[in-house]
Amino acid sequence: MDLIALLDTRTVAFVTGLAGFVMAATMLGLYAAGMRERALLHWAFSGLAYGLGYQGGHLMLNLATPWPVGVSLALANTLIALGHVFGLIGIQRYLGRRPWTLPLLAACALLFAVSVAWEPMRASLRMRVLVLSTFYLGVDAIAGVLLWRARAEGLTAYRRIVALVLLLEAAFLVVRLGYAAVTDTLTTSFVQDPFQILFYLLSMVFVFVLALALALLMFRGKEVELQWLVMHDPLTGLFNRRSLEEHAAREIAHCRRHGVPLSAIVFDIDHFKRINDTRGHLAGDEVIRAVARRVAMELRASDIAFRLGGEEFLLLLPSTAANGAATLAERLRAGLASTPLEALGAPVTASFGVAELGPGETWNDALRRADQAMYRAKREGRDRVVVAAPTEPAPGAPVPADAPA
Ligand code: GH3
Ligand code: MG
Ligand code: MG
Repeated sequence: MDLIALLDTRTVAFVTGLAGFVMAATMLGLYAAGMRERALLHWAFSGLAYGLGYQGGHLMLNLATPWPVGVSLALANTLIALGHVFGLIGIQRYLGRRPWTLPLLAACALLFAVSVAWEPMRASLRMRVLVLSTFYLGVDAIAGVLLWRARAEGLTAYRRIVALVLLLEAAFLVVRLGYAAVTDTLTTSFVQDPFQILFYLLSMVFVFVLALALALLMFRGKEVELQWLVMHDPLTGLFNRRSLEEHAAREIAHCRRHGVPLSAIVFDIDHFKRINDTRGHLAGDEVIRAVARRVAMELRASDIAFRLGGEEFLLLLPSTAANGAATLAERLRAGLASTPLEALGAPVTASFGVAELGPGETWNDALRRADQAMYRAKREGRDRVVVAAPTEPAPGAPVPADAPA
């Protein structure tokens, strides 16, 4: 506490304002660098409001202003309130929630009016601390809780770091409220009171760390997005061909270890060129998306769906033998052929090839057999399922331990 008492309140308040500008510059920098997340603009505005609030209040109290000091204080405190408010609005936007922009801005306007017009607010720092800290506390606590509870794959820990910064600030504000309620030493804003110094000091740390935590969250978000794009097809959200190798290797190892079968279904939409030619490429895309959705709905949690390219798909079915895969393929075929697609006003048909991975067979060979079965389905008139003949184990190939002798 001794060291803190030595710090000059005004200087610390000034540096706290700088932290706000650093936050604004960081958020704007990320936006300019290509992270087109709208929330960044709100957080930039939040930093700007902190900067102007802490420094403006400081300047107006040190320079002679043509208007009363009470108005300067009200302005500075409202700007700081806006800093907290835009932090929350940004978080609501980031989470895809509807931001409470109007009510929160109205609350700030009310705060300004009360600060200017209500005598106890003008006269008493204690009253200002009680009212303002309660407001900041509420806004930060809501933002912190929203973010803490919003889990997302690969992002939860990073969201919680930001949430923790907000919740720690809220906890500090509770302490500040308690202190303001019982002490008599708080007379003016820049009184050399250790607690008032601590407030500016922690506000500075809060703004710096918040900017850092938000920047980390944004970088991590991009990383998760890029990782997703490497493995997925953006049109349908299914896995892409690039990720097939990795999935297949894992599933084959798993199925061989547990002595269970593994099957693949390859299917291709029939006469898709006609859809493109008559309805246009965009309608064609919509059909691909609708078929992917329909198929994904029919799968078990352990089944994995890929878009191999164009209007060709692959389903990887662990713990499924050829007959089970054929039943599923037939169900998918019948479902597509009988239910009109909204995007088309008519059903589409597809041709299916089914193959079960043979003992000792390589994945590429199994895939080739499924492909050939699919082409046979095309040749035989489309809108049908063809199951590839089972493989003979290659001579000298390892035979599973539990296979009949
Ligand atoms: P078949 O019954 O023999 O499969 O006939 P098809 O017309 O479906 O022929 P094929 O599968 O060879 O051709 C698919 C066409 O799909 C070729 C290409 O113009 C189109 N296509 C490929 N990728 C896309 C895409 O992402 N979107 C759209 N709209 N069309 C695509
Ligand atoms: Mg086709
Ligand atoms: Mg095709």
